[in-house]
Amino acid sequence: MNILVTGGTGYIGSHTCIALLESGHSVIIADNLSNSKSESIKKIIDISKKEVTFFEIDVTDEEAVDHIFRNHEIDGVIHFAGLKAVGESVEKPLEYYYNNVVSTMVLTKACQTYGVNRFVFSSSATVYGDNTVPFVETMSLLPTTNPYGETKAMSERILTDFANVNPSFSVSLLRYFNPVGAHESGLIGESPNGIPNNLMPYVTQVAKGKLHNLRVFGNDYPTIDGTGIRDYIHVLDLAEGHVAALENQTEGVHVYNLGTGKGTSVLELVKAFEEANDIEVPFEIVDRRPGDIASCYAETSKAKRELGWSAKRDIVTMCRDAWRFEKNNME
Ligand code: NAD
Ligand code: UDP
Repeated sequence: MNILVTGGTGYIGSHTCIALLESGHSVIIADNLSNSKSESIKKIIDISKKEVTFFEIDVTDEEAVDHIFRNHEIDGVIHFAGLKAVGESVEKPLEYYYNNVVSTMVLTKACQTYGVNRFVFSSSATVYGDNTVPFVETMSLLPTTNPYGETKAMSERILTDFANVNPSFSVSLLRYFNPVGAHESGLIGESPNGIPNNLMPYVTQVAKGKLHNLRVFGNDYPTIDGTGIRDYIHVLDLAEGHVAALENQTEGVHVYNLGTGKGTSVLELVKAFEEANDIEVPFEIVDRRPGDIASCYAETSKAKRELGWSAKRDIVTMCRDAWRFEKNNME
């Protein structure tokens, strides 16, 4: 298939482009490089040994998106492009709603105009809010505590409403848990701008000596050691989940959790990282971070049953691959 990958130069998008190319699909990337670099393209080509087509465009720009659909035979869209910093979304709600919701509408409309019937959307476990773990696809969504989460819930709703009146349209809403790690080549990985918000890039930068010590946000949650529990998933497993979703798509709306089903606490992750890489990660316990929930992990049987996909890489592999990339990363 010929797949339009929006946000394809970003963290999850670049790994997914490689997985698509390795599975024999062709890739057209559309990215405005607001949170990634064009060097990603070269790295995707180096790793996969395949060509890709790249458009530096904003996917909220209807005209620019239309131009791609008009000039290329597109079989499906994977929509990664979006702003993703939870804290920033509270500061800049309009930017987040505009970027993340309008992009979904523009792409859906282009699919309608050009008869493209496959759509895969990057959603997030954040749409479950503070439900009881493990999160199951059939749960009612709860309000999230920030505009970022709301943009994901709104995009899911827009795609669902569109699919309901367009029976030949297939949409997969993929709810990611916590993607970490990097490609085993060490060439691509997560390279956030500024001080990382997320745990794993913070840990790798502390290990590298770039940051002083990790601040563990709270040790009084009702969890095994008091620190927050999350379902960390290797980005390559996540990438393969997209290929499985695309290749097994049937008409209608399908929601899948992409996680491992296993919860890991902050302190467990730190220990796993130290042991996997034989390096120390100094940390201090500080107050809880506002908006955080105690536990978040997936119920994963639906993706296994319907897509034949499940995550294979363990926490040690995630820690090793994240560290290999960080050591190579000169930024
Ligand atoms: P990323 O920032 O590395 O990649 C997103 C890419 O989209 C970037 O390359 C950016 O330049 C591009 N982009 C943003 N707005 C754009 C626009 N209007 N037009 C064109 N390009 C645009 O982020 P990521 O971690 O790879 O996340 C990919 C998707 O997965 C996002 O939608 C994110 O919300 C979602 N997601 C991520 C996580 C996570 O923890 N990383 C978890 C759940 C969901
Ligand atoms: N966390 C932490 N210190 C950090 C960053 C994160 O203790 O510097 C904790 C956070 O409170 C949560 C877990 O690590 O329990 C995962 O946080 P992250 O921001 O990576 O993901 P999310 O909150 O989106 O699940």
